[in-house]
Amino acid sequence: MNNSPVRPSISTQRKPILAGAVEETAASEVQKDEVLAGDENDAPDEEDLQQEGNIEKVKLAPSPVLPTDKEIEEHNITHWPFRSWCKWCVLSRALGEQRGRARQDEVEHSVLIIGMDYFYLTSEGVNGWSEMLKFLELEDDARGHARVQQLMDDKEIVKCLIVCDYTSKAVFATVIGQKGHDDEEYSVNFILEAIKWLGYSTIIVKSDNEPAMLKLVKVAVQRLRVSLETVREEHSKEYDSKAHGGTETRIRSVRMLFRTLRSYLESQIGKKIPIFHPILAWLLSYTATLQNIVARGSDGRTPWSTIKGRQFNGRLAAFGEMCRWKLPNKGPAARNRGNMEVQSEEGIFLGINWNVNEYLYATAEGIQGSRSLTRVPFEQRWSLEAISAIAATPWQLKVPRDPEVIFPQDVPKEAPPRHEILPVRRL
Ligand SMILES: [Zn+2]
Repeated sequence: MNNSPVRPSISTQRKPILAGAVEETAASEVQKDEVLAGDENDAPDEEDLQQEGNIEKVKLAPSPVLPTDKEIEEHNITHWPFRSWCKWCVLSRALGEQRGRARQDEVEHSVLIIGMDYFYLTSEGVNGWSEMLKFLELEDDARGHARVQQLMDDKEIVKCLIVCDYTSKAVFATVIGQKGHDDEEYSVNFILEAIKWLGYSTIIVKSDNEPAMLKLVKVAVQRLRVSLETVREEHSKEYDSKAHGGTETRIRSVRMLFRTLRSYLESQIGKKIPIFHPILAWLLSYTATLQNIVARGSDGRTPWSTIKGRQFNGRLAAFGEMCRWKLPNKGPAARNRGNMEVQSEEGIFLGINWNVNEYLYATAEGIQGSRSLTRVPFEQRWSLEAISAIAATPWQLKVPRDPEVIFPQDVPKEAPPRHEILPVRRL
């Protein structure tokens, strides 16, 4: 038996009972009934209770803490970590699965092991190959494959590529497979850029045995030999099934954040964004980047800090926001706030070009990079017209806006915040 006093110390001033302070007490049922039945006058005061014996403490269900406007504002930038008070986080989780499964398959690796796989954007969200077939009720046979190809041609499915580093947990994702551009060259370059960013000199490249992916890996490996010390391809059946599982886990981890950021963006513009629209290609890439920046592993480090040796310290805006940036080739004198109007340009924030450390913006002419980012007041932040007109893609940067594009499907539009909100400085 526990010999320490079970009676909690209660001061004469009332203190809130916190869930963390609840103790097991052997309280008498009679006493509890008294308290419950008593009215204002005959309820025993605390001193009586202390004299009479133990107190049955109630266990409080955790009460959600209301965030401040500033906290909401900051959270809306990344939607990370999951917050129970955030509508978009909760909706995404309700539709999908729990976050956090990414750690299950993790094995310590001393060399860079890169996993690659295709995945797909469907009306349901982000799917791996087998998940997508299940969702579409198709078999993994010639007929199923033909149907998938048909749906891709009809822009109802978008093919994507994920590259992940098993060591740092960094992920890179991009849309590929849209008609009219060189998939293979774009994909190979994307893989090479990712490996360059990761900066290892010894790597093992893993992929499944799908012929198309194998070819891609071979081309990438061939080019990598120029700059990297050792590249080994691993294609044994056993090894690959593990690699595939690992990659699928990464795809799932991208899925939920992508869904959250997308539904937040849609609620700001009041429209559902069609699956093939260029802004979703940008959002997909950014989702992976954001995950590298904000998702801490079991060692407490983010992939970004593992690779770069320090945490990402750039300022961020919410994806899809109208932002301003300073025009290039200006000296320190250009930082005069009074001249902001003539020295800055505006466009839609599309994320980060991680290889050159620049923000990406969609402008009337196409995509533009800059090292500066300034947010605008809430009322000017969300432009349905500017977002729907984005025509430039990660594989075709200089495509002017297309004002003909109209998003047909409405979604409930979020009301602007009640209070003025300070700009977010950093993560
Ligand atoms: Zn959220």
